[in-house]
Amino acid sequence: MNRIGLEMIEAESLDQVRGQCVYPMVSEEYREAFKSLTQDVFKGRSGTLEFKMIGLKGRPLWLFTKAVPLRNEKGQIVLSLSVTIDITERKEMEEALQKNEERYRRITEAITDYIYTVRVENRRPVETRHSEACVAVTGFTSREFAEDPYLWIKMVSEEDHDLVREQAEEVLSGKTPDPIEHRIIRKNGSMRWVESAVVPHYDMNGTLISYDGIVRDITERRIAEEALLASEKKCRDLLENIQLIAVLLDLKGNITFCNDYFLRLTGWSRDEALNRNWFDMFLPEDVKGYGKSVFRANITRGTILHNENPIITRQGVLRQIVWDIAVLHDSDGNVTGTAGIGIDVTEHRMLEEQLRQAQKMEAIGHLAGGIAHDFNNILSAIVGYAHLTLMKMKDNDPLRINIEHILASSGRAASLIQSLLAFSRKQIILLKLVDINEILYDIKTILCRIIGEDIDFKTDTAVKRLIVKADKSQIEQALMNLATNARDAMPHGGTLTISAEEVEINGRFIQMHQFGEPGRYAVITVADTGVGMDEKTKKNIFEPFFTTKEVGKGTGLGLAMVYGTIKQHNGYINVYSEPGKGTTFKIYLPLEGPGEQPAEKKGASTVSAGTETILLVEDEEIVRAIMRSLLEESGYTVLEATDGEDGLRLFKENRGKINLVLSDIIMPKMQGREMYEEIKKIAPDIKILFISGYPADFIDQKSFSEKGKNIIDKPVIPDELLRKIREVLDN
Ligand code: ADP
Ligand code: MG
Repeated sequence: MNRIGLEMIEAESLDQVRGQCVYPMVSEEYREAFKSLTQDVFKGRSGTLEFKMIGLKGRPLWLFTKAVPLRNEKGQIVLSLSVTIDITERKEMEEALQKNEERYRRITEAITDYIYTVRVENRRPVETRHSEACVAVTGFTSREFAEDPYLWIKMVSEEDHDLVREQAEEVLSGKTPDPIEHRIIRKNGSMRWVESAVVPHYDMNGTLISYDGIVRDITERRIAEEALLASEKKCRDLLENIQLIAVLLDLKGNITFCNDYFLRLTGWSRDEALNRNWFDMFLPEDVKGYGKSVFRANITRGTILHNENPIITRQGVLRQIVWDIAVLHDSDGNVTGTAGIGIDVTEHRMLEEQLRQAQKMEAIGHLAGGIAHDFNNILSAIVGYAHLTLMKMKDNDPLRINIEHILASSGRAASLIQSLLAFSRKQIILLKLVDINEILYDIKTILCRIIGEDIDFKTDTAVKRLIVKADKSQIEQALMNLATNARDAMPHGGTLTISAEEVEINGRFIQMHQFGEPGRYAVITVADTGVGMDEKTKKNIFEPFFTTKEVGKGTGLGLAMVYGTIKQHNGYINVYSEPGKGTTFKIYLPLEGPGEQPAEKKGASTVSAGTETILLVEDEEIVRAIMRSLLEESGYTVLEATDGEDGLRLFKENRGKINLVLSDIIMPKMQGREMYEEIKKIAPDIKILFISGYPADFIDQKSFSEKGKNIIDKPVIPDELLRKIREVLDN
């Protein structure tokens, strides 16, 4: 081994390596090849090998060796002679080159752009040069582009030909067209989306000499965009078509999206609603502040929220909405606004409220009914015994007046109980076919008396007959109660209007009013122009004992009774009222079929009428007023007295004129019976008809008349009263 050889293997001297095997120094992967080369040499073949070797000090080096056999005179191979050169430098260069190539290949594979230049003469392309990268995008080489002058347009997908041509024509005419996006078919037949931009170049005279184009593969972007568009469309379609409210708000609370359902519900058009502030436009004043603060809290905290609040429609109607609200973010995670999905629960809430109200009324009804029933029994005992005591007393007994007071109070209690029973629908009703118009006609005068002269009274009956199955006297009582309330609501005068009409309750009606069974109804409307009611009052008016009137002025039983009566008639009652705007009650009673006719009026008005003079003794002003008008309407002349004493005085004054005394039994000062006794002393044949305020059983009827013939029960039913009067007079 020569000196250079020793240096190569990093040996100090020949001694260091003499007699040693060279194999371990050869890099492992070349060891076998090296061995076989040596063996070949000894078999007489010479050979070459490039291999890697590790120097004694660990330096790697590349060697090229040529080995030839050396033979003796006999031709025997005795030695292998190798000439070895260091090729490390070359090898390293090769490696670097390889790496570079690899990198380059990867770059071209990844490249999505290529550039081309078109030389132009007289506005016509004459030569085109494409950068090598064109192969990555199109699959065609620059050479192929150079050889085929039409390849640039041939590779464009059919449907985009015009677009691409236009761009070329524009740039050839010297302008700079906008970049375009189009499809190309690659050499391998696959489709790609590219973006193509061109820039013209001019010479010093301003003549177009060439243009450069850059073509970029945007397939991935297009696919992503299309996928995004498709998924956006899906979302949008969903939001548009669901029967739920969908509203998107930006950070200021302005509406950036709302669906058709929402627009239909609120009555606004999309243009009117978009970009408007949600809170200003759709939230009622009283929840606006709260709504805004919740909104702000949510966009700062980025949480999800469930909420329920009313919104205002274009018509100013409130709709109750349950919301599920999500906070929206952009791709960087910043909050951009909120998305709300809302369910309109207005009808649900109203039904719930109605059900609650109905259940409450039912419960109160049970309670009131139960109490009234027991109390009635107790009252019977009180009245009965008080009466017995009274009968056993001497006429001048000073304690008499106490018992009379007991009886008078019991009478009032009995009438309260009557109202309670009506409310709890425990009263006995007598259903007959009647024409509502007729009821209104008949009660007109009485109502007139009730409301007094300061109030205008108008009635408006229907042209058609409105036949319902009803207890006439109870419907009348209900109307009287309503009129009394109207009077109280108009202390300084006003107008009371009572009208009747036919109304059809159908699905739409039920949806709008939230009550009713489908069918045809007679509707009695009682409207006043009085003080009206606030919401809170309106909620409670039908409850027994609810009154806003001073102690002693209101019992709170008027409307409770009306309610019970109407329910018992399978009807509905509804109230519309606002403070200062008057009150309207509407009573719906189911109409009978067109074939049904009310029983003939039994000629009541003619047969029961008369021209006689009647002394009416009654302490209750309203009852007196009612009876007076009833009697006068039937042709009688009426003298009115407010108690027994007054009655006696009037009788004396009009002696001979009076044909009949119609008297209450229990009255202050002088009672009916007492008065009768006194009158009989003056006119023994005088005809008398008593009106009893409480159940007949509790009064010893014999003391008034035989078999109770001349006694009539309260509440007085007009027809019955007139018939009875006629009966007594004609007897
Ligand atoms: P009362 O008349 O004894 O108070 P009601 O049951 O008849 O009892 O009426 C209950 C309450 O309803 C009244 O106290 C009043 O507040 C209210 N109300 C009834 N009718 C009217 C009306 N026409 N206008 C205003 N308020 C009314
Ligand atoms: Mg009342």
